[in-house]
Amino acid sequence: MSFRRVLDVAGPLCLASVRPFKAGGVIIYEHVLNREQTRRHVEALGRWFDFIRLGDLPHRLRAQSKKPFCLLTFDDGKRSNATVVAPELKRLGVPAAFFVVTGALGSNTPFWFDRYWALLAKLRVVPKELDLHALKQLPYSVLTARIGQACARHGVEADLSNDDIRPMSWDEARRLDQQGFSIGAHGHMHAILTRETRSEAFENIARSLATVRQETGEPSPAFAFPNGNYTPELALHAMSCGAGAVLNTEPTWVDDTFPLWRLPRVQLFSDHGRGVIQFKLALAATGRILNNPDGTGRNYRAMRRFRDRASGNSDFYTQAAADPAQAASQRALELPQ
Ligand SMILES: [Zn+2]
Repeated sequence: MSFRRVLDVAGPLCLASVRPFKAGGVIIYEHVLNREQTRRHVEALGRWFDFIRLGDLPHRLRAQSKKPFCLLTFDDGKRSNATVVAPELKRLGVPAAFFVVTGALGSNTPFWFDRYWALLAKLRVVPKELDLHALKQLPYSVLTARIGQACARHGVEADLSNDDIRPMSWDEARRLDQQGFSIGAHGHMHAILTRETRSEAFENIARSLATVRQETGEPSPAFAFPNGNYTPELALHAMSCGAGAVLNTEPTWVDDTFPLWRLPRVQLFSDHGRGVIQFKLALAATGRILNNPDGTGRNYRAMRRFRDRASGNSDFYTQAAADPAQAASQRALELPQ
């Protein structure tokens, strides 16, 4: 029996066994999918979860419900999200939120990671200075300069005629918004914000949220951290800039014990089959097993315990939920980084 077949059997069994013990639901994030992959993911998730809109999230976090919820999100704002994924989701009646890199929409500049993949495809072996883990430790300006130099040296460029690479336009983003999908902010540039100076990171977040507000008219768009890396200070800054919710990449289920500035999301990949999706969500339900794709492994488990301890008696968390701007200005020294 192939591994895939094993997961097709084990996935549903594992998910069925954990579901009765879980409140809330899951927030999924993806990047690009074709129509068939979109259908497959929706089918795998729809069997177990109610699909909800981003705007329903605060209510569904608190509500008692027979079926857990699933909020589908897509990061980066590639053009195929608007031309392939959204039409298929619309046909299926499934809502979703698209988190866009506001400075990239409508531009002719590929994302640094697509240039990286183009380099890798040509070179086959990655030179030491382009090791992906090492690149992700760098400030955005250094990272993009290094990739740009390598592209020039090897005569490589990402293919902007490919809609899985080209960012969508603001017209396309507005159309998604008009069709009932949500548009959220994913940074003004796709910088890993914990590698930037504090003021640069603050500015990136503020500008990204303001641009979504201005372009779509959405008064309090959500914010999703590029690559997932965040600190409580940055998350609370996003809230103080008017974000309705802040999402990261901690791979766990979510319920009403999570503050709106720290909502975890589980990543799915385009080639995931039904069994893999269900198995992964069963693992995510434990809140302990999956690695965070932001490179910090399972450190999120310590954050969870901290939150659990703090939630009973910490004024900070109560205040952060009630007045994030005020809480952000009084960042407690004991906040974990
Ligand atoms: Zn991203």
